[in-house]
Amino acid sequence: MNVNQQPHMATPYGQPQPGYQGYPQPGYGGDHVPSGYPAQYAPYNGPGSAYQQGPPQGTRGPPTSGAPPVSGAQNYSQFGQGENQNGPPPMGAPPQRPPVSQPYTPGAVNLPGPQHPYGQRFGAPPVSMQHMTNQMASMQVGSTAPSPAGPGYAPPSVSQAAVSAPYTPAAPPTFPPASTASSQPLPTEALAQAPPHSYYGALPPVQQPFQNAVPTFSSAGPTQPQAPPPVSPQSFPQAPPISQPPFSTAQVHPGPTQSYRGPPMASQGPPMAQANHILPTQPGMPPGPINASLSGPPPQPGMQGYPPQQNGAFGQVRGPQPGYTGPYPGQPNYGAPPAAPASAPAAPKRLDPDSIPSPIQVIEDDKANKGSEPFTTGVRGQAPPLVTTKFQVKDQGNASPRYIRCTAYNMPCNSDMAKQSQVPLAAVIKPLAPLPPDETPPYLVDHGESGPIRCNRCKAYMCPYMQFIEGGRRFQCGFCNCVTEVPPNYFQHLDHTGKRVDCYDRPELSMGSYDFMTTVDYCKNNKFPQPPAFIFLIDVSYNAVKNGTVGIVCQELKTLLDYLPRENPDVESNIRVGFVTYNKVLHFYNVKASLAQPQMMVVSDVADMFVPLLDGFLVSVSESRVVIESLLDQIPEMFADTRETETVFGPVIQAGLEALKAADCAGKLFVFHSSLPIAEAPGKLKNREDKKLVGTDKEKTLFQPQVSFYNTLAKECVAQGCCVDLFLFPNQYVDVATLGVVPTSTGGSIYKYTYFQAPSDQERFLNDLRRDVQKQVGFDAVMRVRTSTGIRATDFFGAFYMSNTTDVELAGLDCDKTVTVEFRHDDKLSEETGALMQCAVLYTSCSGQRRLRIHNMAVNCCSQLADLYRNCETDTIINFFAKYAYRSVLSSPTKNVRDSLVNQCAQILACYRKNCASPSSAGQLILPECMKLLPVYLNCVLKSDVLQPGADVSLDDRAYLRQLVSTMDVAESHVFFYPHLLPLQKLDVESMALPMAVRDSEERLSRGGVYLLENGLNIFLWVGVSAQQELLQNIFGTPAFSQIDPNMTSLPALDNPFSKRLREIIESVRAQRSRYMKLMVVKQEDKLELIFKHFLVEDKSNSGGASYVDFLCHMHKEIRQLLS
Ligand SMILES: [Zn+2]
Repeated sequence: MNVNQQPHMATPYGQPQPGYQGYPQPGYGGDHVPSGYPAQYAPYNGPGSAYQQGPPQGTRGPPTSGAPPVSGAQNYSQFGQGENQNGPPPMGAPPQRPPVSQPYTPGAVNLPGPQHPYGQRFGAPPVSMQHMTNQMASMQVGSTAPSPAGPGYAPPSVSQAAVSAPYTPAAPPTFPPASTASSQPLPTEALAQAPPHSYYGALPPVQQPFQNAVPTFSSAGPTQPQAPPPVSPQSFPQAPPISQPPFSTAQVHPGPTQSYRGPPMASQGPPMAQANHILPTQPGMPPGPINASLSGPPPQPGMQGYPPQQNGAFGQVRGPQPGYTGPYPGQPNYGAPPAAPASAPAAPKRLDPDSIPSPIQVIEDDKANKGSEPFTTGVRGQAPPLVTTKFQVKDQGNASPRYIRCTAYNMPCNSDMAKQSQVPLAAVIKPLAPLPPDETPPYLVDHGESGPIRCNRCKAYMCPYMQFIEGGRRFQCGFCNCVTEVPPNYFQHLDHTGKRVDCYDRPELSMGSYDFMTTVDYCKNNKFPQPPAFIFLIDVSYNAVKNGTVGIVCQELKTLLDYLPRENPDVESNIRVGFVTYNKVLHFYNVKASLAQPQMMVVSDVADMFVPLLDGFLVSVSESRVVIESLLDQIPEMFADTRETETVFGPVIQAGLEALKAADCAGKLFVFHSSLPIAEAPGKLKNREDKKLVGTDKEKTLFQPQVSFYNTLAKECVAQGCCVDLFLFPNQYVDVATLGVVPTSTGGSIYKYTYFQAPSDQERFLNDLRRDVQKQVGFDAVMRVRTSTGIRATDFFGAFYMSNTTDVELAGLDCDKTVTVEFRHDDKLSEETGALMQCAVLYTSCSGQRRLRIHNMAVNCCSQLADLYRNCETDTIINFFAKYAYRSVLSSPTKNVRDSLVNQCAQILACYRKNCASPSSAGQLILPECMKLLPVYLNCVLKSDVLQPGADVSLDDRAYLRQLVSTMDVAESHVFFYPHLLPLQKLDVESMALPMAVRDSEERLSRGGVYLLENGLNIFLWVGVSAQQELLQNIFGTPAFSQIDPNMTSLPALDNPFSKRLREIIESVRAQRSRYMKLMVVKQEDKLELIFKHFLVEDKSNSGGASYVDFLCHMHKEIRQLLS
């Protein structure tokens, strides 16, 4: 077998590194480290000999996966040899996929069920119970996720109480509205700018046309349906549709789940002939204005009242027409009862929001269609359920969507198609993603001293895509086709289908994801790594002492250090810890167990940082517990009276880095920092905040680091495996764009608590800190994505460093971090073999083991554009676009970035219209079924604070959000751009189900309701001025709206079912997110409401961002221009 391991250099696919990225080629002779995994994994831990022959495959599958479907019967002949060697489950022709030529079932865009491509598979169309059930299920994800405080972690109450007392003096006991606002990253200064009284006053006139879009719509008249919003009951979504003329035929479905379906269908038209035309024309419209209106071409008789149309079109969003004059005089606005007096004048609505694709409807449909059955990964090219659907995954040969989501599950066969469509080809990879308890974590495969089996040429790791030939003596690589001999100790016979008989005993032959134990050859300098270390570096300057963070951090660490990450909960973590405090000088602490008291060593020469002590700096918590506790007690006292306001920052990271170097280990620095580092030292910064640059060609400089020092430092950190997590507590500009360079280059995280005040913000900070310290993390990680011939990974997005074009280096890689990878063609792909990718991450586990995490993914390839457009995932496309755009602001003016995004999306949709949709009037906007939300979500990205900030958004906030989004997974980016809005007045406490969410628009809010809005960073509780007294009593303990304290950050624990259920829901939502979300109570018509409205993303924004309706019109215009 050694013969096989000789490197084949310089082959076309060889990615010629001898070993794994820079590490020596494994010689298979290294020591083998016992895995330490529980016995049940033993079958996978041993070398080949551990394999037991025999039992039928069905019974011997990896515990959770069950027998892969139809393995034997399927033809998995990616190499055209007609042999089913390894049978990853059927890759050839997924039964679920309708044949390409099959016409889409007709259906209106926003109709549930039947039109869905997966509809038939999952049975009955959604009924209300099902909706509710699935919804509930989805919301319960949280209950299975780690609680914010981490498993088993002691309740914070004690330490919090103790801590908060001393520091409260520095901060008001309750925070006033203004400071409340300021503690939130986004809306910080919103209040200052808020018009004194108003809530409506701040709102721009409704329904402005998209900027520069055809003016027509605005000409429709100033009146808005919800014109006097505060009073108009008719703008409430709950308003029952009345028997209105068929304005929105698309809403035909009285779907129980819709908050409002629009007027009932006017007529039961015949099923529409043109499958692709979605939107209902508006039959009731006067002929004249029709064309001028959005309804475009003359109404088609068949378009109303028919069942769902697939793929299609919705709405004839005819380009805005100059002459348009509110064609729908009698139109109820948004389902308001027509009788409502206020609604009458509202005519000028150009496009009924209920008739355009609804994110909520799509989310609910997916839950109904895909939430009830496990998602099995054995079928190549099958798009997973949406991230908003709760589902169980069974690994049958491809990585779970929790690890990898792709923008397209049918990749174009060649680059011409890809260019024509402009659909990005990308995968969002979360290598260490946590799994719910009912899914089995990846098995650890140990081939002993021979190490993992790999292709000789491209070095891909053994996986289900390798095809065994010649009786099992050799295997052909699915990525590069090279044939490699099977090492003798890995040999196994093939069954009559050509599959190894041990296929289902070996995760690496049958599963999409697994870990390999590696040998010393995979370790730096050919020696096994030391256990990692955590170093806590605490700013003790005046600001940090005053805002309370010094005391809070020290107090918390006394408890938290008992919960350092470990792989086996029964064993003590072997992570060592060290402590530094600093202002303009650094203080190192010797906390050696043998000392009676900790010793401080001051380094005031910060120009050339060194670590003044080696022995006693990094220690075991259990051994040095007494000394550490003493230190943590003393630090706040020592600096309580400090007058030092200046800080350094670069030397702080250097100190941690040097300490890790000296200890010859990888690790993580936790830096708690409060101010712009202006003290004389390397990495000193100046205040360069200049809002005048916003919107100019120089805006990009604000996102770039102001000095190159941190880039150089980051590179050194990566080389050492030194990951930096930064906790910021700024009172003013701290230049997040520059301070964030090291964290975002080392796989670290940034947390920002602007205007931190202990009473109101400590809960959020402590929960974040606990989670950050406890979460699973790997160190010194290198990730490489290998692909089959025809495509290759060309671009990467995330928090990492790259020193060449293929290896993503992460000093630290935690379970929350995502890397988005873009692929491009370098040759043709074939429909037969599909496109394969293998993501391999080499890392040091928190126990010090060197491991490989492997994720395999196969997608289909298509030669027809229609197939591409049938099988895309819009949420993932948006994740990619957001990261792409947010990176682009470093080099281009934000306006250019926005324009180019709009243009690319217009091209995507125009290509579909031109090549895939049935002929129809140009006045119709026709969208692919799986991309019908692309416009609404894209608009959310375009109007986000990074790309189109309001005047109240600080530069630091923008830099912070930019960095945050760069590591988000698809679920996080989805809720971040399109917040989750729940009507609590519809909550049924008897049921575990949640009420169906409503769309993010003010007109969906009822004055009589209370709503919960969540975007992954914030939670708001919006209370309508007319909220029912019983509701208020249940939630707040008072029936009076006026008595609700808008400053509360947690709800009173009342002894009633509603209160309990609501608090459970909030906790559950928090548990789903990687950052703790502080609760803000927003009373309707209160000034804080302006902040809340920022998140109603379907509405026009204060910063000039278009409403959904306007943007859709704009998009349609762009598409028509491309087509003409
Ligand atoms: Zn290969």
